[in-house]
Amino acid sequence: MEEKKKCGCSLSDVRVVACAGGSNVGQIANQAAVMLAKEKVAGFFCLAGIGAHIKGMVRSGKEADLIISIDGCPVQCAAKTMQHVEIEPAIQVIVTELGIEKSHDIVIDEKICARVVEKVKEELLA
Ligand code: SF4
Repeated sequence: MEEKKKCGCSLSDVRVVACAGGSNVGQIANQAAVMLAKEKVAGFFCLAGIGAHIKGMVRSGKEADLIISIDGCPVQCAAKTMQHVEIEPAIQVIVTELGIEKSHDIVIDEKICARVVEKVKEELLA
């Protein structure tokens, strides 16, 4: 998996999943994934389809060159959902690890989303 991560700049099929949880950090994770998709850094992949074990989507996930998971908190629902179908995200970002406190106010701060996006980009280049 490490080998895949290192050649991220030349990958054509990078996908991002986000937990989209019912908290500020869950929604920040989702918004960061939206931003990555809009910037064409990664295709936004449906985590719910993986959780539902939709065959074609699981196959598509397994065929991706690299998967990025963005989770709101250390429970890591997105990464674990992927792992349940034997897909290991090469890059796993957790919003609370960037110093953001989890709350259920569902406030999405664009600056924090941008920090999450930058963290993903740093990991892609690492
Ligand atoms: S990772 Fe945390 S914020 Fe995201 S869905 Fe799971 S419990 Fe909620």
